[in-house]
Amino acid sequence: MRQHKLALCKEHYLEWIPEQTARFIKKYWMFGPDEKVLVAVSGGKDSLSLWDILQRLGYQADGLYIGLGIDEGIGYSAESQRLTVKFAEEHGLKLHIVDVQKEYGHSIPVLSNMSLRGHGRPCSVCGLAKRHEMNRIAYELGYDVLATGHNLDDEAAVLFGNTISWSKEYLLRQKPVLQGHDGLARKAKPLCRFYEKEMTAYAMLRGIEYIYEECPFSVGSTSIYYKELLNQLENERPGAKLNFYLKFLEAREDGLFASDPEKDPPPLFLCPTCGQPTMYEGQCSFCRMMEKANQK
Ligand code: SF4
Ligand code: ZN
Repeated sequence: MRQHKLALCKEHYLEWIPEQTARFIKKYWMFGPDEKVLVAVSGGKDSLSLWDILQRLGYQADGLYIGLGIDEGIGYSAESQRLTVKFAEEHGLKLHIVDVQKEYGHSIPVLSNMSLRGHGRPCSVCGLAKRHEMNRIAYELGYDVLATGHNLDDEAAVLFGNTISWSKEYLLRQKPVLQGHDGLARKAKPLCRFYEKEMTAYAMLRGIEYIYEECPFSVGSTSIYYKELLNQLENERPGAKLNFYLKFLEAREDGLFASDPEKDPPPLFLCPTCGQPTMYEGQCSFCRMMEKANQK
C-alpha cells in the first residue's frame, strides 16, 4: 500500500482491515457496540466484506438485499442475490430481502423505461428506489443505523463530481456518517477510507465469493469516468485520492461552509517582525521565509 508506505502479509492484512474499520467507526461516531446495524448488501465485494468485517468485530449486523430486477448481463440481480444468500447462509447471518418489483409492481429497468427521471439512464431511478427502501426497512425494523459499503474510490469520485460543479448542498452531506432525524435512518460508511483495491484484496484473501461483474447499467457512467481520472492521478502521486477526501473532511470540520470570511472575518494577529496582519499568531509567512533565507 504505497499510500500508507505499508506492506503486510496475508495474516496481518486480514487483521489490519478490521482494526482500521473499528478505528473509523469510533473516530466518526458511527455506531456503538450495542447498536443494531443493518448492512446494505449488493453481492459485491465491498458490501459483503463490510458484513464480514462487522461480524468479525462482534457487531450485531444483519443484511438487507434489495432485488432490482436487472436481468441484463449475466442476469445481474439473480446472481448477486444468489451470492448474498450464500454468504448469509455460510456465516449464519440474518438477511432481509426486498424485491422492488414484488413490492411496487415494477422492476428498475421497467421504471427506467418509463422516463420518469434520469434521462433514460436507470441509475437515477435505481438510486432513489434503493435509498427509499434502505431507509424504510431500517426504520420499520428498528435498526439503529444503516451501513453501506462505499469505499474511498466511491467517495472520492462523488466528491470530485460535486466539487467540479460546486454543489454545496451535496458537499455538505458528504460525510462518513449522517445522523438520522425525523424518520431518516442514521447512515454510516465504515469503509470510506479504504481504497477499492484494498477491499478487493480483503475479499479475495477471505475467500468471499462475490459478483465480479459490474451492473450492466454502470457502463459509461460519469462516476466510472471520474474514478479513472482519479486513478491516473493516484498512479502519479500515491495517496492523492486519500488526501483529497481526508483534506475535504478536515476542511469541512474547520468550517469551510460555515462562515463567509468576507462577511465574518477571522481575528487577525500582528506579525512581531514587520507589524503586518497575519492569520496565525507569531511571525507572518513572509518574515518566516526571509528569516529562513537569511539563515542560508
Ligand atoms: Fe442501479 Fe445504476 Fe448501480 Fe446498476 S449501476 S445498480 S442501475 S445505480
Ligand atoms: Zn415516500
